Amino acid sequence: MNAGSIVLIIIGCLFVLYHIWRAWYLSKGSEHDMKAINFFRSFKLISKETLTPEEGKGLPIRKFTFALPEQQSLASLGFDMGLGDFVKVSVNGRGGGKAYSPTSDPYKKGSFDLMVKIYPNGKVSGYLDQTKIGETVYLSGPGPVPWIGFKRRQAKHVGLIAFGIGITELKAIAISELLDPHVKSVRLLWALSYWSDNFMEKELEEMVKQSNGRFSVVYTLSRDTHEGCLSGRVSSKLLRQAFPNLISSLSSSSSSSALQPELSEALVNENEDYQAVDVKIADTGADTCNNPNTSTLVSVNDVMWLAAGTKQMKKDAYLTLEQVGYDKSSILLYKQVPTLPCFFPRQSSPYVQN
Ligand SMILES: Cc1cc2nc3c(=O)[nH]c(=O)nc-3n(C[C@H](O)[C@H](O)[C@H](O)COP(=O)(O)OP(=O)(O)OC[C@H]3O[C@@H](n4cnc5c(N)ncnc54)[C@H](O)[C@@H]3O)c2cc1C
Repeated sequence: MNAGSIVLIIIGCLFVLYHIWRAWYLSKGSEHDMKAINFFRSFKLISKETLTPEEGKGLPIRKFTFALPEQQSLASLGFDMGLGDFVKVSVNGRGGGKAYSPTSDPYKKGSFDLMVKIYPNGKVSGYLDQTKIGETVYLSGPGPVPWIGFKRRQAKHVGLIAFGIGITELKAIAISELLDPHVKSVRLLWALSYWSDNFMEKELEEMVKQSNGRFSVVYTLSRDTHEGCLSGRVSSKLLRQAFPNLISSLSSSSSSSALQPELSEALVNENEDYQAVDVKIADTGADTCNNPNTSTLVSVNDVMWLAAGTKQMKKDAYLTLEQVGYDKSSILLYKQVPTLPCFFPRQSSPYVQN
């Protein structure tokens, strides 16, 4: 037997094994169990709500609620929202599909929500938009795939940068981080085009209220102005304004590995690039942009960052963080690692209740 035949036989065996495994995997549980790895099953849309005002300048954002069996929740289906798990929506249930981060409490039984920005001619967002209440949609999850996991890195202070609809992912991450008593502060910058895109302000305010000063939110608008919000796209200057305690005003002139953990107030005020602005910060703590309390400036080694948005937006955000002195290789709150259930089980986030 020549080498070519052996290769063909191996490929044939792998193909058969894959289909046996696939049939077994799909037969597990009830037909209403969600399955990962792009194996889509249909779930009923039970409600639909528009979250942005009709007169808003941006694209509409709608909340879609899907039914789960009464006793099932996303958590019972294996979702760990603190690790950025998502569902995939497929138009025809045959692979592919787009990722959406559920926004409802993962422990809520019987249903879950997706908040989706509807793009003109958007293949999947348009399909969801056209789905009527009572109709079904092909969903799979948790994503990404069981053999890739995210390893969470422990931080004392967490900086989150959400671009537009990327807030759906970061809200759950913020909740998860706040559940860890070792995390002293979580600060979220939400970058929006228009103030009317701000569909989650109330929920974030509630989180701030319940956080005992550990959680704060700051907004920046790129095409609009609103009292108390920063203006402009994410830049090194804007990051300094938004995260005065996490990004010292000396960062740009410092080496990325050894920033000064504590700076004197005099030095902060000396920096010409630092502009005091009246920023909307949804908390009552000392962590304000217009009067940074230098005693709360922290060591870069204690800070981890996460950005959510398009690939390009995330790339730009991490590049900007490098410009202000953070080293990308060591600042990501989550690191992708291979997981294999028996050998390298994935570690859960603080969001997972044992
Ligand atoms: C991990 C993860 C979680 C996500 N969670 C959510 C979520 O909770 N809610 C949500 O609404 N989206 C979320 N997304 C984005 C989502 O997966 C789709 O990319 C988005 O809905 C567009 O898909 P579409 O098929 O409707 O548009 P497409 O058919 O791919 O594109 C249609 C048009 O929209 C434009 N477009 C597409 N995507 C974007 C974009 N991001 N920004 C600007 N223009 C765009 C395209 O340029 C094109 O003109 C998430 C993405 C990832 C990777």
